[in-house]
Amino acid sequence: NAPEKQVATSVLVIGTGGAGLRAAIELAERGVDVLAVGKRPKADAHTSLAAGGINAALGTMDPEDSWQQHAADTLKESYLLANPETVRIVTESAARGIEDLQRYGMPFAREQDGRISQRFFGAHTYRRTAYAGDYTGLEIQRTLINRAAQLDVPVLDSVYITRLLVRDNVVFGAYGFDLTDGSRYVIHADAVILATGGHTRIWRRTSSRRDENTGDSFRLAVLAGCRIRDAELVQFHPSGLIAPENAAGTLVSEAARGEGGILRNAVGERFMSRYDPERRELSTRDRVALAAYTEIKEGRGTCDGGVWLDVSHLPHETIMTRLPRVYQTLLELQMLDITKEPIEIAPTAHYSMGGLWVRPDDHGTGVDGLYAIGEAASGLHGANRLGGNSLIELLVFGRITGQAAAEYSAGLDAQRRSAEALDAARAEVDDLLAADGPENVRSLQRAVRDIMTEHAGVVRDESGLLKGLAELTEVEARIADVGVHPDLAGFQDLAHAFDLKSAALAARATIETALERRETRGCHNRSDYPDLDPALQVNLVWSGPGSVQRETIPPIPAELAALMREVSTTGKLVE
Ligand code: FAD
Repeated sequence: NAPEKQVATSVLVIGTGGAGLRAAIELAERGVDVLAVGKRPKADAHTSLAAGGINAALGTMDPEDSWQQHAADTLKESYLLANPETVRIVTESAARGIEDLQRYGMPFAREQDGRISQRFFGAHTYRRTAYAGDYTGLEIQRTLINRAAQLDVPVLDSVYITRLLVRDNVVFGAYGFDLTDGSRYVIHADAVILATGGHTRIWRRTSSRRDENTGDSFRLAVLAGCRIRDAELVQFHPSGLIAPENAAGTLVSEAARGEGGILRNAVGERFMSRYDPERRELSTRDRVALAAYTEIKEGRGTCDGGVWLDVSHLPHETIMTRLPRVYQTLLELQMLDITKEPIEIAPTAHYSMGGLWVRPDDHGTGVDGLYAIGEAASGLHGANRLGGNSLIELLVFGRITGQAAAEYSAGLDAQRRSAEALDAARAEVDDLLAADGPENVRSLQRAVRDIMTEHAGVVRDESGLLKGLAELTEVEARIADVGVHPDLAGFQDLAHAFDLKSAALAARATIETALERRETRGCHNRSDYPDLDPALQVNLVWSGPGSVQRETIPPIPAELAALMREVSTTGKLVE
């Protein structure tokens, strides 16, 4: 039997992306005992991929900006599905989030007079996106890692959490294993903060890191007694790479279109003229994704199921100075010189707008002592995320939840324990390690991704979703017969088996809620229900197979409503 390590801490943070690290820093700054764990090295967390920037109405470039206008833009872009209180908290506290980063040493781009530079991002009324070149996420992640190190925050970089430990609706820790040597971890904690990211890797193409965003948040939460909100609301980015397969979905920045890149289908037509004649390639992310999807679906795509994005006509200088990351990425991944040849792209799953059901104020999940933040949580983005809002959410709710968990821990007389919960967690890992069935974990992961791509992608309809559900049921049955074979190199195969279980659960939650949302709204396109249905201006809450409930969204305060522009009945924003 693998050795089992017993660890105790006041607050356990699961996930070492931006959200988890910010929460851990808050706890350490308050003198609270904290432990942070991740299933991948912290420097490699998905947060480090974020490019464009982070939002706050600082007014450095446009003094007339305000947190109220930021809130109004966010609510409008959410197609009225964001929670107004969550939006208020993030936008009102955003400047504080930026201040915190500055205090930790973040190298923001600045104007000559020292002001933080802020640029336009799509659908913002003013320039409010702060940045560090096109490496904003990487710099934020580095800054948070350095601050956590200054505070001696203990971080375990290779611990895969398989279960949250819960008794009588109170969390008391988590169970997991070390990916290198397989040793088990029993981590006892007063409070747990879940910052384990989204579920975009359950589609064939995704912009996220390998083995991240496999839906772990969903599975850990549901087994602990939490609920998932708006799982069906997933943002697809128009330009993900098709090849190589192991990097499928890697983003080609929107800057490529912004700088003058042209989109063509396989028969050479500049197809955006049909979908948005005025703005063509400069149209919004959801429209371009839908247009590319339609071209491919209607048979005008390339043999590999893509369309062409061409920047080769741009001056060499423009490509080298404005698109250096795109240039390097294509050279590295495909040995393709974008100054000479077009790039083959297709829509790619990019961001989970839904996630765990949380209270707006402290991001408590309804299980005592258990909180969720970052892409794992829900409430801020509704049916479409405003670019740059995700990174600020990590900063704001990392701080708030760190504080809430600290207070909760301080108020606890004793930790609960449950041998039963612990035995169930142990048995699950034992059983998988002993599994010697004929089914291959990686092939089943692929099957889930195929199902989601074919039946629950950019455009959905009832018959496709039902077909997807039936195929998923077959895959779920096959999961019972997997073989798991860790080798000398480590326990990745065991991790993949858990990733697969999470992916299957996240897929079911997504398809079941997508079936219930019989309308087109923001990222959710139903070809059988092409209009927005005002009766569906609700959140959809999933608490397990077959259980989807509607949740009323509180009204938007009049002050913010007055600052919003119109949402049309076609389910698309009026620009
Ligand atoms: P993540 O960074 O995904 O971290 C999750 C953590 O959980 C990881 O440490 C992982 O190892 C750990 N974990 C997961 N499961 C387990 C488990 N079972 N056990 C242990 N650990 C586990 N947003 C913006 O606001 N602006 C941008 O410009 C922007 N650009 C983007 C560009 C790209 C290419 C991508 C992919 C995203 C972009 N985003 C952007 C979105 C933003 O980067 C993410 O939403 C955000 O970084 C998520 O942070 P997080 O801390 O919630 O999760």
